[in-house]
Amino acid sequence: MRFFDSHCHLDFPELAEGLVEHLSEAHSAGVSDFLVPGVTLAQSKSLVAFKQQYASCHIALGLHPYFIAQHHDDHFAELAEFAAAHVERLVAIGECGIDATCKQLDYQQSLFQQHITLANTLKLPLIVHHRQSHHLIAQSFKLTPPLYGGVIHAFSGSLQQAQYYIQKGFKLGVGGTISYSRANKTKRVFAQVPLDALLLETDAPSMPLAGYQGQINVPKRLAEVFTHLCRLRDEPVDTIAEQLYTSSCALFRI
Ligand SMILES: [Zn+2]
Repeated sequence: MRFFDSHCHLDFPELAEGLVEHLSEAHSAGVSDFLVPGVTLAQSKSLVAFKQQYASCHIALGLHPYFIAQHHDDHFAELAEFAAAHVERLVAIGECGIDATCKQLDYQQSLFQQHITLANTLKLPLIVHHRQSHHLIAQSFKLTPPLYGGVIHAFSGSLQQAQYYIQKGFKLGVGGTISYSRANKTKRVFAQVPLDALLLETDAPSMPLAGYQGQINVPKRLAEVFTHLCRLRDEPVDTIAEQLYTSSCALFRI
């Protein structure tokens, strides 16, 4: 079995220092591919060199709403120009989206719609961050419909919301949240949607699984996320693994 970590910040300082070891441990656990998203302009630009160094890492470029205070007015135009110039190295646009716990919601929404337009222009899927913002994401999708789908990172929400995203061509990112007993609603959704609507992700170094609270999350834990998902599904384990890997490669056209 082989796995694809569709969302991990391997270039963040917490992981970058021991990255060779983290990657080797992840490979031993069956994790063969990684998607490292962009979060700021400077960091997005640095990912092109990062990808050259680490062949199993695929990259996306974007301005994350969490870093909204660091994004200047001209950053998106520069990002768009850089992305167009390096489009053959990219598998997605993001991480972008709307986080209602962060400031400047109007600016976040306009920035998100610019990311959707860029993804449409470059014919790429989107990596969408959401927090308490389904209604604003849906509003953005209505104003600027995404054409190449994407992934709703760390999906949490109702079955109805899940079906809305699936119908728009999006996959749902399944992470360590499902290792917690309190995540019953999200677990029920992941049990009910079609298997080909799901992707695995760790969000390392964030979102440690139950049992590892207080530690940094690492990409080898993707195999444990997979085990938790298998408990929710009726399909044979091999079928689940194969479908998740195939879906990731299909979405990111790898
Ligand atoms: Zn992220």
